[in-house]
Amino acid sequence: MTEKYLAQPDLGFIAQVRGLGGETLKKCYQCATCSVACPIAPENSPFPRKEMIAASWGLKDRLIKSADIWLCHQCGDCTDLCPRGAAPGDVLSAIRSVAITEYAQPKFLANAVNDPKKLPLLIGIPAIWFALLALITVYGKETMTSIFNVFGISWSHAHEGAEHVIAQADFFSTWFVDLTFVPIATAVVIIFILSLKRFLTDIHENAVLEGKTDKTSLDYKALFQALVRVIPMVLKHDKFNECESNKDRATPHMMVLYSFIGLFIVTSIGFVLLYIAQMPGPYSQLSPMKWLANISGVALVIGSGLMIKNRLDKKEEQKTYYKDWFILGVVFSLGLTGMLTEMARLAHMAYVSYFFYFLHLIAIFNLFAFLPFSKMAHLVYRLTAVAYAEYGNRK
Ligand code: SF4
Ligand code: SF4
Repeated sequence: MTEKYLAQPDLGFIAQVRGLGGETLKKCYQCATCSVACPIAPENSPFPRKEMIAASWGLKDRLIKSADIWLCHQCGDCTDLCPRGAAPGDVLSAIRSVAITEYAQPKFLANAVNDPKKLPLLIGIPAIWFALLALITVYGKETMTSIFNVFGISWSHAHEGAEHVIAQADFFSTWFVDLTFVPIATAVVIIFILSLKRFLTDIHENAVLEGKTDKTSLDYKALFQALVRVIPMVLKHDKFNECESNKDRATPHMMVLYSFIGLFIVTSIGFVLLYIAQMPGPYSQLSPMKWLANISGVALVIGSGLMIKNRLDKKEEQKTYYKDWFILGVVFSLGLTGMLTEMARLAHMAYVSYFFYFLHLIAIFNLFAFLPFSKMAHLVYRLTAVAYAEYGNRK
């Protein structure tokens, strides 16, 4: 029996998708070349042809609840072959941006990340906050020491007895930095847990409705096992490498991914050294931790720099939108300011190093605080969707 589907077009959604890079969605005349060309599309109900028609009809619910939109790597193979000059890869990317905005709450933060007019606020608020913390660190040392003494905690985390050493903690108290970022990180984790719970329920419902899975219910244990199975594939970028048009994007993408993993390990070790082993930095350049930090920092600068270069080189074929520039800018600034902080410190330029560290903190703030709302969230949604596809036997 033919399935009947009552279409309820959402005109606002069509406008949103067009504004986020999917302006070609109305060009599609359903020839299906793209679904044949896509190296990643499963045989059972392939994409992106059906997504193109759903987008042009404004079927928001159907699209943002589909795991398929996250399986696409925006390689552009389909776009290159489309006889109508539509860009299905860009349309799917725009739909993913709408999905991120829909799943992550509070929504005003998601809207702020996608609105260039809000950029001065996104930079200005953390800039004022960290400038204030620097003032208190430098001029309120005695007051803060007495307050912390009441709780039996040492205020200073700076290199006691080694006056020639430049330490960021002298200018931005480590306590202040961690008391800013730990609550932000906690909020980010909670936002992701709540968003992913809704996301998983929705993509499962959609997969059952469209006959894309043989599972009737969500088994979280089996889903977790599927996640473990797909992680090596994601780390090796296997799917990315199946694409032809933008193969050169895989290496910078991997460099950025691995540098974030390296920096996460370094930050975790630093936390343990500072708060458990009571060993404040700066640490020796010869320590393995510093090696990992420096290699990760350089990889982050080179990887994100190459991503920016790729976008600039291909600006005719692959349009880049504000949402892309925002996250590329944040990631590149994060790596660059981190490395410049370190270089200025080693060159004994204390105030130059503090200044770069100030910029570095603003970049970290923008990366962390807006993680569930920016394009960076695709890491989490895509990994979840890929794990779900594995769990649901989407072949
Ligand atoms: S190849 Fe182009 S015209 Fe054909 S279905 Fe895909 S998007 Fe539409
Ligand atoms: S951009 Fe690449 S992965 Fe995405 S639908 Fe097109 S061909 Fe498939």
